[in-house]
Amino acid sequence: MPLPVPAPARKARIPSWVVTGSLAALIGILFVAKVGSAGGLVFGFLLLTPIERIWKRHDQQIRRPGLRTDMFHLLLTPALTAVGLVVPIVVWTIVLLPMRGNPLATTFNALPVVPKAVLAFVVFEILGYCAHRLEHELPSLWRFHAVHHSSTRLDWISGARAHPMEGLVVGSIIAAPALLLGVGPGTLGAFTVITQLWGVVLHMNVRWRMRWLDGIWSSTDYHHWHHSNHLEARNKNYSGFLPVIDKIFGTYYMPKHRRPEVYGIDAPMPASWTQQMLHPFSSRSKAPPATVVWPRTDPRDIIHHPLGG
Ligand SMILES: [Zn+2]
Ligand SMILES: [Zn+2]
Repeated sequence: MPLPVPAPARKARIPSWVVTGSLAALIGILFVAKVGSAGGLVFGFLLLTPIERIWKRHDQQIRRPGLRTDMFHLLLTPALTAVGLVVPIVVWTIVLLPMRGNPLATTFNALPVVPKAVLAFVVFEILGYCAHRLEHELPSLWRFHAVHHSSTRLDWISGARAHPMEGLVVGSIIAAPALLLGVGPGTLGAFTVITQLWGVVLHMNVRWRMRWLDGIWSSTDYHHWHHSNHLEARNKNYSGFLPVIDKIFGTYYMPKHRRPEVYGIDAPMPASWTQQMLHPFSSRSKAPPATVVWPRTDPRDIIHHPLGG
């Protein structure tokens, strides 16, 4: 009589929200501990890359195209972006000094700490949404933001790819209304840093779906759709944290049974960091997003996990 075959042991499964939350907390702690860009690079390859190998969404190589450029971005771009961001905040703080005591700011600053922080966060998110949407819809701003969207492979380091002029652009758009509403320059800076740190998680090549967050809080799936090159997903999912803003303005895109397969833009983007810094100023970057040809990424080298995570 054949022996009964034992049932295979069930693999212990760590909920994706536990991993995401722990990662976000760890990235925040490392930032507070003043781990610089070089430390962030080491931390990313030692911890985030192995996590991406375990829960990979696309079976792409660690040494994928563009990795070297993105390493340069991580080491050089954040400091330059911060300079660009600080300039309009400082200028607007000085210009708006006489209006510091306006009734709106006075009411806002009289609120208790917690409601004040929540309200400031929501204001920051709405203004961030507007700035991001303008970056997509105005060709003069898209030429800078196109650098961030030029990644054809997403992983933790791909989020660092950006043009530093974005700091100046976003700072110029959000600083004045935020300061008029009473949100201080320090608060603006702190929220910007938190957004950047959360951005590391949003770009990761992981298949966590975190469906229960859909429409409530941003997830990797949500931001991967923002980067996707599918026609129907273009110019969608602009929020950093609160997808409800996209829902209100009709730019929310999260199909239930599909996942993004191709990323990037169709207009050409040079490969090196230096060339990417110069590209938005060249006449070749003039094409607005609507005129690009799709698709450019070869889907054969990206393996899609349709229902993982
Ligand atoms: Zn974008
Ligand atoms: Zn992104």
